Amino acid sequence: MSDIIQLLPDHVANQIAAGEVVQRPASVVKELLENAIDAGATNIKLLLKDAGKTLIQVIDDGKGMSTTDARMSFERHATSKIQKAEDLFNLNTKGFRGEALASIAAIAHVELKTKPQGEELGTQIKIAGSKIISQDFISTGKGTSIAVKNLFYNIPARRNFLKSDTIETRHIIDEFQRVALAHPSIAFLLHHNNNEVYHLKTSNLRKRIVAVFGVKMNEKLVPINEHTDILSIEGFVAKPEFSKRKRGEQFFFVNDRFIKSSYLNHAVVNAFDGLLEQGSHPSYFLYLTVPTSSIDINIHPTKTEIKFDNEKALYAMLRATVKHSLGQYNVAPVLDFNRDSNLDTPYNFKSSSKTASVPTISVDPDFNPFKETVQKEISFPYKREKQTESWESLYTSAAVTEQEKQSELFENQQEIKTQKTFQIQRKYVLSSIKSGVVLINQSLAHQRILYEQFLESITVKEANSQQLLFPVKISFSSAEIEMIYTIKTELENAGFSFDEFTKDSVTIKGIPVSVTESKITIILEELLNDINLEVPDASFSHFDVMAKSFAKTLSIKTGTLLSEKEQESLVNDLFSCKEPTVSPFGKSIFKTLTLNEIDNLFNH
Ligand code: ADP
Ligand code: MG
Repeated sequence: MSDIIQLLPDHVANQIAAGEVVQRPASVVKELLENAIDAGATNIKLLLKDAGKTLIQVIDDGKGMSTTDARMSFERHATSKIQKAEDLFNLNTKGFRGEALASIAAIAHVELKTKPQGEELGTQIKIAGSKIISQDFISTGKGTSIAVKNLFYNIPARRNFLKSDTIETRHIIDEFQRVALAHPSIAFLLHHNNNEVYHLKTSNLRKRIVAVFGVKMNEKLVPINEHTDILSIEGFVAKPEFSKRKRGEQFFFVNDRFIKSSYLNHAVVNAFDGLLEQGSHPSYFLYLTVPTSSIDINIHPTKTEIKFDNEKALYAMLRATVKHSLGQYNVAPVLDFNRDSNLDTPYNFKSSSKTASVPTISVDPDFNPFKETVQKEISFPYKREKQTESWESLYTSAAVTEQEKQSELFENQQEIKTQKTFQIQRKYVLSSIKSGVVLINQSLAHQRILYEQFLESITVKEANSQQLLFPVKISFSSAEIEMIYTIKTELENAGFSFDEFTKDSVTIKGIPVSVTESKITIILEELLNDINLEVPDASFSHFDVMAKSFAKTLSIKTGTLLSEKEQESLVNDLFSCKEPTVSPFGKSIFKTLTLNEIDNLFNH
């Protein structure tokens, strides 16, 4: 049999390689912009026609190329950026594979003009389908201009495969934004069909982000800053209330290179945990700097995925840093809770619940404002004085008290007390605020309060623990015991103390102050359940799951009657939370109704 294997001609090999590097006009944009940056440009222009299908031109003021280099730049594996394999592990440039220009020249009409500083004449090369068409000396400015015309002209299948101009333009703008965000000190210009789309001046990070995404972005940004030996993190995350229904403004840059990483994304989203509404995505612009030797960029032709040496440590640090910043900048919206007394109810309710007495079932003498409520819940049903709930009684009661108020006014002013909150259907608490009213879901509000309390006591300060008079022995399966044992330290941080572990039981001698004895079993069971449901990621503490779980189990539920005092402390505690707007599970806690909105209800 005769030999049948032969080497592919260069232009065919280039075309095949091009398939990897150039998927669409946006890929060309990325490669050309990166080359300009690698050349040290401080001004970069991108000109497009027809979503890049007709023309993509990048003009830079970088270092330019000599005539020989200009010619060489179109050869496959021709690069000035690395020389030996080891250099791959110490990359400081965007490019290094030396295949972008060769690939692009294989599938388009390319016109290169370039001149290094100090030369009198520059070089112009025209090339199409990997064939040099012309080479001339020309007079041109310092730097390089590369025009890529009629992309995929010789591969109709690929050309037909391109999407509408709108979609291809979107892809290009995505690439452009990534590069522009990674290099705020470089000025960029983007024109499409002779219209100016972006004109970005040299600036700093914050201003660049705002210039790219619009002035509204400015107020949304929370700065992030952390520097350690293995990692520096800088940049911004957008406050949770500005999170998006769609993933969008999510940017990671590693050593100034935009990268995609679902792993790191997970770390950030995790740091927002409990602050985001379900199904919404946080915006972020995070710039990581790591030693070049600790990453491998060479795993993907478009270089948007990279491998880190110590992924887990990065994850932990990223998560902690973002979480910290969110906390520090107290991302909660400012709600005006200085009540305007004019808008407060004039009704002088005699506290109708003042005499409700609570059966004591706990040996715990310590007091927590909400524990009382928790106990009440356990001790249902119990008798309370009749609550005025129907509108008729509200009316009568109001009429009476209005009179009372008048007379009292002259006698004993201290007696006058206006109720500031109302409970509705044992589910909501209505409270008057300066701008109108706020309607709060009591159970979700309490979840948020407990969640933050637990999180703080577990992570920041010594948790308050109460010693039980008689240690409690609780039975569990051995798998459950195993699990409790592995999170023992965290549970201790939360305020638990343990006496003895056996194969199927644990003896508990101390519990967090906000927990009652009767609830120990259920909260531990719920916790184990929740931990099992979490993404298994053993490298992370269960603090957050724990705080959520406890909050969920211990919060007052719908159906619990709250005294006026309890309602008030619920409102006050909620609004001293870092993030009063959403429950730890992402549900809206309250809605406000402004006076205007109320007025509108009657303006028909
Ligand atoms: P790589 O960027 O991986 O080195 P490319 O094919 O993108 O490969 O470019 C090949 C070479 O051409 C580069 O290494 C660089 O020396 C030169 N080059 C490309 N674009 C420019 C530019 N805009 N300015 C100066 N030199 C450039
Ligand atoms: Mg390149």
